[in-house]
Amino acid sequence: MKPLMQPKTFFIHTIGCQMNVADSEQMAAALAPLGYSASPAFESADLVIVNTCSVRAKAEQKAFSILGRLADLKRSRPDVIVGVAGCVAQQEGNRILSRAPYVDIVVGTQALHRLPEHVRRVAVERCRIVDVEMGPGAPDFRPHRAPGPVCRFITIMRGCDNFCAYCVVPYVRGRETSRAQAQILHEVRDAVDSGAREVTLLGQNVNSYGQKEGHGTFPELLARVNSVPGLLRIRFTTSHPKDLTTELMECFVRLEKLCPHIHLPVQAGSNRILARMNRGYTREHYLDKVSKLRDTCPGIAITSDLIVGFPGESEADFEQTLELIQKVRFDGLFAFMYSDRPNAPARRFADKVPEALSRRRLHALLALQDEITFTRNSALVGSIQEVLVEESGRTKASGPPQWVGRTPANKIVHLQADPDAGGFGAGSLVQVLIEKAMAHSLRGVIKGKPAAGRPLKGGAQDAA
Ligand code: SF4
Repeated sequence: MKPLMQPKTFFIHTIGCQMNVADSEQMAAALAPLGYSASPAFESADLVIVNTCSVRAKAEQKAFSILGRLADLKRSRPDVIVGVAGCVAQQEGNRILSRAPYVDIVVGTQALHRLPEHVRRVAVERCRIVDVEMGPGAPDFRPHRAPGPVCRFITIMRGCDNFCAYCVVPYVRGRETSRAQAQILHEVRDAVDSGAREVTLLGQNVNSYGQKEGHGTFPELLARVNSVPGLLRIRFTTSHPKDLTTELMECFVRLEKLCPHIHLPVQAGSNRILARMNRGYTREHYLDKVSKLRDTCPGIAITSDLIVGFPGESEADFEQTLELIQKVRFDGLFAFMYSDRPNAPARRFADKVPEALSRRRLHALLALQDEITFTRNSALVGSIQEVLVEESGRTKASGPPQWVGRTPANKIVHLQADPDAGGFGAGSLVQVLIEKAMAHSLRGVIKGKPAAGRPLKGGAQDAA
């Protein structure tokens, strides 16, 4: 696409999940051929995009609060182009213009690939554009990638066919559509060529990748990504428990680059609530999958999502959720209070849980999980972990350089270099002695680089 006359800058404010982070990266890359480069702050940018999330009411409120701040910017600099992308854009469409009349572009989840042409048109014609058309599936959106971070997100599928009772995703991101393996592999190779050492394959339910289109299975895709030269680590998210197969569990042992961590959202510990949520499994099925995972890949880290205060959740249901957490002893949990979402069937359920009660349950649940996470992290003190260095951390003027990386089990490690550890930087795999456990991360000192070619799975795994 022909560049605009003057070099311009953009700022993308991203709210929500990793899928949105990946979409923002793609929008950024797609704007480059137009002559746009990233601005460090929205106040100085010529184009500001809010990439929104509508999965919870709070995330949607945040989007409108950011848009409120952009009203002032637009008053002082009327030439600034303001765009709204993502799930709230898809859900609200034209209503965004009534609520925030200074917005120039509203671009839905299946129209992101048209963002550059909309920006170009608005820059020239000063018109307003709403593009929230939904088709049977999202067209492929794979712009040229610039050099970037060590860890990248690669979207392998979009949308969802599961229709959980609380969830907006099938309505705002459409039905499940998988990308072809050749396109995904091309993107992984591009990412590695431009500096990536780890990729996270993204989808709402990666376990059902390719089934509708006949693109092959997810384990087959993983095996092909595993053979990409120069790539050190593979992760994926999210896995729906009902579709987690033995074949996929075995990949954690068979594929040396696949990190021993799975995010397996359980959402509730009571069968009555799981059925109302339309999750398609029982607590017994879930616990059975966890136990098979741990038998297949001992030491695998398991994280999860939970919703408290789903309509109809009794004290006994909530107790069962706490009991499940104690049984599984997750490595980490993302827990949220239920909120009504447009289109999602649960908004019509009558027996809503009062907010104060949901809040109390959330605090109790998080306190329990914090204790478990800390105990699991503490068990790693004194062990040697293989860490992929991702970025430089905050370094005190007088102290040694600080870095941040992750273990194969996805634990964040704040690092300090031993003077004898040798040269390393973002993208290096290093051996780290864990010295301290904190609530949600670890602290360690780099003891050396792993021997060249040593397989990842040979590295120390989390002991807990
Ligand atoms: S599996 Fe359920 S919660 Fe996840 S995106 Fe699909 S509908 Fe939403």
